[in-house]
Amino acid sequence: MNSWIYFPFLMGWSLNVYTNKFFQRIQPVNQLAKDVDQQANQSISEQPEPFSIALEELRNALDKLQTSEKELRQQNEELLKTRYRLEAECQRYQELFEFAPDGYLVTDTLGTIQEVNQAAALLLNTSPKFIVGKPLCIFIADSCRRLFRNELARLRQFHQSQEWIVQIQPKDGLSFDAALTVAMVCNQDHQPVTLRWLLRDITARRQAQLQIQRIQFQNLQLVEASRLKSQFLGMMSHELRTPMNAILGFSQLLLRQFQQQSSNSQQAKIAERILKNAKHLLRLIEDILDFSRMEAERFELKRECFDVSQLVTATVEEFRAEAEQKHLELQVNLEVSHPQVVNDSTRLRQILTNLLSNAIKFTESGWVVVRVEEIDSDRLAFSILDTGIGIAESELALIFREFRQVNQTISREYEGTGLGLAIVDALVHLMNGSITVESQVGIGSIFRVELPRQLPA
Ligand code: ADP
Repeated sequence: MNSWIYFPFLMGWSLNVYTNKFFQRIQPVNQLAKDVDQQANQSISEQPEPFSIALEELRNALDKLQTSEKELRQQNEELLKTRYRLEAECQRYQELFEFAPDGYLVTDTLGTIQEVNQAAALLLNTSPKFIVGKPLCIFIADSCRRLFRNELARLRQFHQSQEWIVQIQPKDGLSFDAALTVAMVCNQDHQPVTLRWLLRDITARRQAQLQIQRIQFQNLQLVEASRLKSQFLGMMSHELRTPMNAILGFSQLLLRQFQQQSSNSQQAKIAERILKNAKHLLRLIEDILDFSRMEAERFELKRECFDVSQLVTATVEEFRAEAEQKHLELQVNLEVSHPQVVNDSTRLRQILTNLLSNAIKFTESGWVVVRVEEIDSDRLAFSILDTGIGIAESELALIFREFRQVNQTISREYEGTGLGLAIVDALVHLMNGSITVESQVGIGSIFRVELPRQLPA
C-alpha cells in the first residue's frame, strides 16, 4: 500500500495518542479537585473565610475543566469520523488505480517508475516489484528510445501533456504499438514533481484501421468494377439491339409473305417462331440495358401529356393474342373520368407491359384484369390482377430485387431474367409512386402501382 494511504490513519492515530495523554494527565487533577471539594463541603462551616473563597474558585475552575474535556471529546469523535471517511476514499482511489483496465504508471520527472498498476504490469509482462525503481525507458523498443528521451526532455521544458505512439518492449515478450499519454503533476510552486502515464496497447486499433483501409480500397475497386460492368453491359446491349431490330424486321416481312402464299404454311410457322424468339431476345436486351442504366442511376424520364386510358387499352391489346392462346380471359376496367396525365408514356407502358406479361406468364387458367382508378384528384392506381400460381409470403419482399425469381425450377419453366420487377420498382419510385403486391399461392396475385397524375418537374 502507498504511504499516502497511511496518511489519514497516521494523522488519526497521533491525534488519538495526543488526546488520550491529555485525558490521562487531567484525570488525577480532576480526582484531586473532587476530593478537596468533598472535604470542603463536609467542613465548610468550620473553614476560615479566605480558604472557602479559594475553594469556590477551585470549584469554578473544575467546572470549566469538565466543559473543556467534553468539547475535546466531541472534537475527537469528529476527527475520527473524518479519518474513516478519508481512509475509505483513499482505498477507493487505490482500487481504481490498481484495477483500471488501462495501464497506469507514476514516474519522477526523469522517468523512473515509482508506481505501477496491474494492467501496466501485465502489458510490460513482469511484476510490479521488478518494474518499480526502473527507468520507463527500458520498456521502450530500441527504435523509439531516442525519440522517447527527446520527448521527455521537451515535456520537462514545456510542461505539455500529450499522447505519443511508441513501440513498447515488454520483458521477455514481443514488442507492440502503444499510445502513451503523459500528464505532469506540479507542486505549489509550479515545479514538476511527478509524471502520470497512461499506457494503452493499440495493436487492435491499428489492425482495425488497416482493415478499414483495406476494405475501403476493396470497396473502391468494387465500385469501379461495377461501373465498368454497367458500362460494358450498356454498350453490349446497344450493339446487340441494332442487329436484333434487323432480324425482327426481316422475319416480320418473311412471315407476311409466307402468310400470303397459302402453300407456305410450314415456312410461315418457322418465320413466326423466329419472330417470337427475336422479340423475346430484344426484350431481354432492353431489360439488361435498363438494368445497367438503373445501376448507373442514369434513368431519365420524359415529361409529356397523354391519355392514360388509350395507353392502357393499347398495351393490353398487345397481349390479347398471347392470352387467347392460353385460353385466358383478358379484361380492362377503366374508372378514370379525367384520363389526361403528365408522365413518360414509354416508361409507363414498360411498367404495365412487365406486370401484364408476368400475369399472363404465371397464369395457366382463369383471367387477367387490368384496372385503372382515381385515388384522388392527384393520384391514379393501376392494378393487375391474375388467377395464376401466386407467390409465397416469404418471397413477396424479395421479388423486387434484381435477379430474384421465386423457385428457380418453376422460373426456368417460365423463362425470364428476374430483372423485370426490379426495373418496374426503380421506375415507379423515380415517378414518385409506390408499388405493392398481394398474393396467395394457387389463388393469384394483385400488383398495384400508385402514381401521381403529374410527374414532378
Ligand atoms: P422474370 O423475368 O423472372 O419474370 P420478374 O422480376 O418480372 O422476373 O419477376 C420476378 C419473379 O417474381 C418471377 O420470376 C416470379 O417468380 C415472380 N412473379 C412475378 N409476377 C408474378 C405473378 N403475376 N404471379 C406469380 N409470380 C410472379
